[in-house]
Amino acid sequence: MFLYGSSRLELLGDLMTEDEVEEDWTSYSSAQYGTGESIFEEDNLNEIESKDEEFDYFEDNYEISPAPSISGQTHLVRIGCCDFCLGRVGGVSLIKKTLKDAGLEVRNEVLNLNPGLEIDETVCPLCENLFSEIDIITSRLISELNDFEFSRLQLGFQLPNDLLESEEYIRTTFGAKRSSNLKQALSSEISTMIRTLLENDFDIVNEFPEILALIDCLTLSVKLECRSLYLYTRYCKFERGLPQTKWNCRTCKGRGCEKCDNTGLQYLESVQSLIADPLLEVFLADSHSTHSMGREDIDVRCLGNGRPTVIELKNPKKRFADLNKLTKLVNKAASGRVEIQPLRISNKSEVVRVKDAAADKSYHICFKLLNVDDEGNEFEIQLTDDEIISKISELNGVELNQRTPKRVSHRRADKIRKRKIIDLYEIKVDDKIVEFKLKAQSGTYIKEMVTSDNGRTEPSVAKLLDLKCEVEWLDVLDIHSD
Ligand SMILES: [Zn+2]
Ligand SMILES: [Zn+2]
Repeated sequence: MFLYGSSRLELLGDLMTEDEVEEDWTSYSSAQYGTGESIFEEDNLNEIESKDEEFDYFEDNYEISPAPSISGQTHLVRIGCCDFCLGRVGGVSLIKKTLKDAGLEVRNEVLNLNPGLEIDETVCPLCENLFSEIDIITSRLISELNDFEFSRLQLGFQLPNDLLESEEYIRTTFGAKRSSNLKQALSSEISTMIRTLLENDFDIVNEFPEILALIDCLTLSVKLECRSLYLYTRYCKFERGLPQTKWNCRTCKGRGCEKCDNTGLQYLESVQSLIADPLLEVFLADSHSTHSMGREDIDVRCLGNGRPTVIELKNPKKRFADLNKLTKLVNKAASGRVEIQPLRISNKSEVVRVKDAAADKSYHICFKLLNVDDEGNEFEIQLTDDEIISKISELNGVELNQRTPKRVSHRRADKIRKRKIIDLYEIKVDDKIVEFKLKAQSGTYIKEMVTSDNGRTEPSVAKLLDLKCEVEWLDVLDIHSD
């Protein structure tokens, strides 16, 4: 239960992830909602409870039994329930009737039997006359919704806590069994109205909405939260020098400065921008991020089936598009530098799956054997090509101990990883240039396995050959995941 002042946010259904609830709540509370004030003084409840003795207008020692008994219905009319609330708690059939008409039926029956009934006309104790404001709420809701495309809408209500408590008490004590509560009834009335007023087809849902409409029943204001749109694909990167994600300018950290020509970017383009920028325009979203299975360095190509990735489009006004067409649009705009497989709809939980997946990967690496010693003197490499190949083959099936590489130590804790070389094949030596392919466990530092990173990776090609090695290039050949 989350409390805010004496109000609480009432959502239909409670199956949102904790994360989402937190999100909803934060944004809701930051909207500075006032404390819900109820017209109910504490005494009023006691008054209702002690009214039993006074209810002798039908017979002596009159006991109120819940609606649809006439005593229950009479009590509900007497304490000032509105027609909508009489309709929902009065215990009459609602088939082919509006809530209001059903309530009027109850009221007329009670007044026929008891024309002189004294009625408290201040405010409906079950809804504080909210149902009579439904037109206002609905028209505000519709004007907000008009900006968005959606097929799943969830309604949330901010209601004063004490109203909810007294409504619950009155409904369960005097109302018919299984009457819908205030929140359910409001939701169903509003749903019916917006369905007739909006042309698009949508469901009112209790979980995983595209749009969450938060209705503040005190101020009758409506606030929409638009959930991100997620698209899954696998991308190939055919060009070196392209970073995987948006890279902020090192000097200004993205604020924009002279150095970056006020773009805020260290590199103008990235795999992320090439894929997601065209989508941003189509879905009229505010911004994007990409969530990929692993990372590749700026100078590493990613070939084969490509890298699984989920593109997140934030605050999209549009949601429905021909994804095949969009795939073509992205690929055309990226003009062979990056290519994506057909896009499909994804979701937030797939982001977690993709990010947490530990997929083995295959690589193709090329490096140079250095025949210059620390003093800068050239020397003759003593090993034959066959000896080089045979020494490198020793790494096949070996488990590496890899201390966090120097080049990433600024963002990763220094520790030792154990990773296996599953397969190592197609070793070729041409003068001082060596290349081979390998399949390694997820998370293996491949460049370091060749260079040894000053002894941080054990064993390594450099150590086995007793030569310095300099990586020329690296390609990801495959990411072994479905
Ligand atoms: Zn009412
Ligand atoms: Zn800058």
